[in-house]
Amino acid sequence: MIADVVIVGAGIVGAACARALAVAGVRVTVLERGAAASGTSAKGEGNLLVSDKGPGAELDLAVYASSLWPGLVARLADELGAGFPFLEYERKGGLVVATTDAGAQPLLDFAASQRAAGVDARPVSVDDALALEPWLNPAITAAVHYPEDAQVQPVVATEALLASARRHGAVVRTGVEVTGATRDADGRVTGVATTDGDVAGDAVLIAAGPWSGEVSATMGVRLPVKPRRGMVLVTTRMPHRVFHKVYDGDYFGATQSSDAALQTSSVVESTAAGTVLLGSSREQVGFDDRLRIDVIREVAGKALRLFPFLAEASIMRTYGGFRPYMPDHLPVIGEDHRAPGLWHASGHEGAGIGLSLATAELLVAGMLGTPAPLDPTPFELDRASLEPHLAEASR
Ligand SMILES: Cc1cc2nc3c(=O)[nH]c(=O)nc-3n(C[C@H](O)[C@H](O)[C@H](O)COP(=O)(O)OP(=O)(O)OC[C@H]3O[C@@H](n4cnc5c(N)ncnc54)[C@H](O)[C@@H]3O)c2cc1C
Repeated sequence: MIADVVIVGAGIVGAACARALAVAGVRVTVLERGAAASGTSAKGEGNLLVSDKGPGAELDLAVYASSLWPGLVARLADELGAGFPFLEYERKGGLVVATTDAGAQPLLDFAASQRAAGVDARPVSVDDALALEPWLNPAITAAVHYPEDAQVQPVVATEALLASARRHGAVVRTGVEVTGATRDADGRVTGVATTDGDVAGDAVLIAAGPWSGEVSATMGVRLPVKPRRGMVLVTTRMPHRVFHKVYDGDYFGATQSSDAALQTSSVVESTAAGTVLLGSSREQVGFDDRLRIDVIREVAGKALRLFPFLAEASIMRTYGGFRPYMPDHLPVIGEDHRAPGLWHASGHEGAGIGLSLATAELLVAGMLGTPAPLDPTPFELDRASLEPHLAEASR
């Protein structure tokens, strides 16, 4: 029986798992080498999307996650009280547009396939799209409205999940780096070694985002997670002129691509504070976090094509992070068949904020042997689609 769990990483995935386990009565210790939410969870836009996923296991997870967010936001507000910052949860909806004639039909076909999978995907005329987004470039060729898409402030959400986990008994230790695993005579993982001594647990969960590969390696197993760099530009505050998450339909192709070279696509949205976020890029350059002018130029140029008024906007800052990329485009959620006692919740790429709550529920069901809210097998480490990558990573 699992009564004691050590979690490596206090990003949103580790935080959501910590809360769900603590609520279920498990003793939880979260170990984080930096500060809470100091990794990738502080470097993204916080979209909770169903619109960018095609039919399949990731979409099922996203649809389920989307159903969990409103209840969680209300429960956390009750639990943590008015003194805790608002999570900025808003079900603002998404508007996906095609900007070329060639792109129109694929966008509508994609939406039809999502509708068949249970997503609320509504094709709208160009006039209706302009009624939803009056500042949008009218030279679009097709549009689909996704009322279920939402947004949250990811750092506040991570902190709130951790605060709630603590209220349910979890211990969160920051500034403690995990350096390896401890094992019993049979090789079962019994805890972790850290820069501040050993910490024992019936199970160890690696939720170290793009660093999960490195952490796994210190424990004698390989996980083929790679960092996929992404950059976002932030404008100064302005009156609200972008009301949904608006993006070009080619964004879906970029998320599903395995290409390591630079890809950019237009993703534009405003925040509650009044800034506008312009995204985003994808490239595999290891953990190289240097500012890249060519990336900034390309992201800005594509955003202007969607919203010409942005030509007058000032960019206040840019930021970027490393998406935890799994080569078969699905996270790993479950026990490691090669190391009993070791669990993973990693590899959510550009969707870890949205998928965190559903990930936590799947993980708790797996650890405690309770009924899973959806089929866990597509997310298991020993799935066929990951087999060649596991073999390659272990060479
Ligand atoms: C530009 C960009 C935009 C994005 N936009 C979105 C979006 O709109 N919506 C969405 O859902 N997702 C988005 N993402 C993806 C999302 O941010 C990630 O999927 C998510 O944050 C992953 O969370 P995590 O908890 O797995 O990892 P992290 O947040 O990286 O947390 C892992 C933690 O583990 C810690 N750690 C690592 N090694 C050790 C060790 N040895 N010991 C102790 N601690 C350790 C790290 O310090 C880190 O804090 C975006 C990402 C980027 C880069």
